[in-house]
Amino acid sequence: MPMISKSKYLAGLQCHKLLWFYYNAKDEIPKTDAAKQAIFDQGHEVGALAKKMFPDGIEVGAGITDLPETLRLTSDAVKLRKPLFEAAFSANGCYARVDILNPVKGDAWDIIEVKSSTSVEDINLADIAFQTRVLTEAGLKIRRCFLCHVNNKFVRHGEIDPEEFFTLEDITPQIAELTRHVEEQVGEMFKTIRQKQAPEIEIGRHCSKPYVCPLHDRCWSFLPEASIFTLYNDRSRKYKLLAQGIHHLKDIPADVKLTDNQSIQRAALLADKPHIDRPAIAAFLKQLEYPVSYLDFETFGTAIPLFDDSRPFQQIPFQYSLHIVRSPGAAPEHFSHLAVGPADPRPEFMRQLRAALPETGSVVTYNASFETGRLKEGCELLPEFKPWFVKVAPRIVDLLLPFRGFRYYHPQQHGSASMKSVLPALTGTGYEHLTIQEGGAASREFLRVTHGQVTAAERHRVRQHLEGYCGLDTWGMVLIMRELLQIM
Ligand code: SF4
Repeated sequence: MPMISKSKYLAGLQCHKLLWFYYNAKDEIPKTDAAKQAIFDQGHEVGALAKKMFPDGIEVGAGITDLPETLRLTSDAVKLRKPLFEAAFSANGCYARVDILNPVKGDAWDIIEVKSSTSVEDINLADIAFQTRVLTEAGLKIRRCFLCHVNNKFVRHGEIDPEEFFTLEDITPQIAELTRHVEEQVGEMFKTIRQKQAPEIEIGRHCSKPYVCPLHDRCWSFLPEASIFTLYNDRSRKYKLLAQGIHHLKDIPADVKLTDNQSIQRAALLADKPHIDRPAIAAFLKQLEYPVSYLDFETFGTAIPLFDDSRPFQQIPFQYSLHIVRSPGAAPEHFSHLAVGPADPRPEFMRQLRAALPETGSVVTYNASFETGRLKEGCELLPEFKPWFVKVAPRIVDLLLPFRGFRYYHPQQHGSASMKSVLPALTGTGYEHLTIQEGGAASREFLRVTHGQVTAAERHRVRQHLEGYCGLDTWGMVLIMRELLQIM
């Protein structure tokens, strides 16, 4: 009989169908993608930093994946009464490796689970409850349980002191309650694992809570492209409709009350043509002043801040793209900046942008709060840019607004106002031909070729792709604006 690890236990809490696949049809579960792998890698870095709080700690079975061997090494290490990293225990068909097991008074131990999140989440509690149950059944006396998570108030100044970087939260009372249910839950999980067929489980909120399930595409594939789940800003109605067997937006009964924007969405789909509020679009366009500058930033945020004067997960801008249209109908001119080398990119970014951005005219961004936020942070770090930013801020125009407000809605947007939905719907131009197709990949690739060990040729290749991706974000805004101007 296979054993249940803590990751499989958490998968089982999310969905027994997912659990069944892990044990009976693992090959059918898609492999970990680059985005998830980056999260795992970040977790390992944070874990390594936490271990520095226990300088006399012992790594148990580093690099060994053979369970009997790690169990044997653990039982030897436990006798030493030192902090143990990755100690392994098993009992009653379950096993768990503990991030940090700290010896306390008498023969007791504290469990310390390290997470790269900035708060205690339900899944962390379930994770530690499972560990507590396994360790207790394996004969250990557990005194307290702690979650060691990232302190989001931390600001880096020089070498990172892990005592300041982490917040240690005592979660013993919550764990005591949860631990009582683990045995029964595990019993149910074993029953599911032994079944010949995967259990029939309806899709639901659990498919993306706490994480997007790796079988999401498979289980949700029966829905049409214009499904009820694309209904704009809908929290609960979609599940009621699903329960009634309604899958397509156009099948929503007429007596179901929709919001104004949802009604526009359905009407545009039924008519198969865009909804255009011409007076509102005209008012939006009227505020434009030439030269019009289309601006987009790329950023990265790491759990462990790389630079002084930055916080965990703070978005650090490393690249911008700028298309300038100097007068109506003029050909757009392109400018860009992409940080070179591993130093803090913010000072050069601010200098380059100030030099390139025209001193007059509108500055168009898509979801302006993001670019504005980065510029404000830039001014906090480098106050000499404040007078410049004070003049730029009132010129910023948010191209997202007419789409988020459904002043323009194209049925191919499928309920989304994001740039990735609006651009192809309006102009037929998409991102699918690019090697880097979204901001998360841009961040990861920049970090990889700037802070990792890669050849010069590889770095050059990736930087070309980064230029292509960020450049399309601003070129796309130019195309969208042309489309809006044309319909007037
Ligand atoms: S997508 Fe949903 S129903 Fe399907 S296995 Fe995952 S959680 Fe279960």
